[in-house]
Amino acid sequence: MTVFANLIDGEWVAGDTATQNINPSDTNDVIGDYATASLVQVADAAAAARAAFPAWSRTTAQVRGDILTTAADEMLARKAELGEMLSREEGKTLPEGIGEVIRASQVVRFFAGEALRLKGEKLPPVRPGVDVEVTREPLGVIGIITPWNFPIAIAAWKIAPALAFGNCVLFKPAELTPASGWALADIFLRAGLPKGVLNLVMGSGSVVGPAIIDAVDAVSFTGSVRTGRGIAERAIQTMTRIQLEMGGKNPLVVLDDADLDVAADAAVNGAFIQTGQRCTASSRFIVTEGIHDRFVAAVTEKMGKLAIGHALKAGTQIGPVVDQRQLDSNLRYLDIGTDEGAKKTGGALLDRDTPGFYMAPALFTETHKDMRINREEIFGPVASVIRVQDYDEALAVANDTEFGLSAGICTTSLKYARDFQRNSEAGLTMVNLPTAGLDYHVPFGGRKGSSYGVREQGSYAAEFYTIVKTSYISA
Ligand code: ADP
Repeated sequence: MTVFANLIDGEWVAGDTATQNINPSDTNDVIGDYATASLVQVADAAAAARAAFPAWSRTTAQVRGDILTTAADEMLARKAELGEMLSREEGKTLPEGIGEVIRASQVVRFFAGEALRLKGEKLPPVRPGVDVEVTREPLGVIGIITPWNFPIAIAAWKIAPALAFGNCVLFKPAELTPASGWALADIFLRAGLPKGVLNLVMGSGSVVGPAIIDAVDAVSFTGSVRTGRGIAERAIQTMTRIQLEMGGKNPLVVLDDADLDVAADAAVNGAFIQTGQRCTASSRFIVTEGIHDRFVAAVTEKMGKLAIGHALKAGTQIGPVVDQRQLDSNLRYLDIGTDEGAKKTGGALLDRDTPGFYMAPALFTETHKDMRINREEIFGPVASVIRVQDYDEALAVANDTEFGLSAGICTTSLKYARDFQRNSEAGLTMVNLPTAGLDYHVPFGGRKGSSYGVREQGSYAAEFYTIVKTSYISA
């Protein structure tokens, strides 16, 4: 089997070792072997990026935008093939895999335009004859470390603005999903990026990750809270700029006056689609007394009808869990919830035609807000219902968490919808919509323990990927 190599200074370079990329829908299906970068290779990649930076940072926005547009075009043209590969390596359904490739292409195209829209400021002088201007410049070399759950979209929404604004990149995809990352690097290279501008260094988070952090000017990371905290501690040693997107424990409030069907759909979609493996997934349904029993019945019915199976099989709505470790962790949380006294529906391990990590979605009812299942991120198809008396209690419970990524409410009351929007301690709020499901032209990020640093995406991305210069001129 061919080993997919790392990309260093415009060349494909084999690693000392490689890891097998396995399909979670069918563990007999090997997608490929992917090189693991050595520490020397990370250093080579960093040197190549440093060497490429002066020329790349001085290219025009037109040149950079054109390269990104070429890459976006190829991604879209190959959406079926890339989407299938993504679904094979990650386990999301084929329509979701193809949808993610389309999204990645839209993101890259958006940032091709952003290259041209980067703004500065010229302000009125306060000293006679002294002009002052504020401009944005590229930072240098950016480390981009991505997770497995959106292996092409998240990588695209970090790499595209980094390149659009004139930075060079060291990119490390997650160990579980190197194929999408490899394809993205290959597409950017063939779109015309000069050598060294984008370097792909695959491999283990604990070895390749720290080496990247030590070598770059800024790190954009999406992943777990624990890893994010470790990155922050390491990056501060060298005063490296960081942007961390981490976990969520996202609430969906359902009030008595909600449209039951809208609420149940938002709940089932938000909690279970994509096997619950989204940082914006709803995991706490906070439901007022008057609709509680009807809501639980409606969600239970819809959950029971979900088709769980091989990600590439037509009709599958929920694919497998990404790997054995994540499956074990989900099952452990099912035990924890039961031991805490919650009532569990669903959550069985499932057998399918192929060996994979299949489980039914699980719903806990009769839970308390302080249970571990309501405080810790599970990252699987597991949600719980917390019964509350009224809106005020619902808002308080929704905000009673160390996280603050996305928060939703289902209600037909403008008063409560607006109040929730104003007082929710989350970076994203949703009214009568699932907590997950976002657009690419607006900022994305959370508050409290969910995020650290400035926002990603939309025009706000420039905050992270550029540095401000204030220039005084007397002439
Ligand atoms: P998950 O548990 O969902 O895999 P992680 O936070 O472990 O989330 O992984 C997200 C990304 O961070 C992956 O690319 C992973 O390889 C990387 N990573 C893991 N550990 C470290 C580390 N110590 N330093 C830098 N990156 C890391």
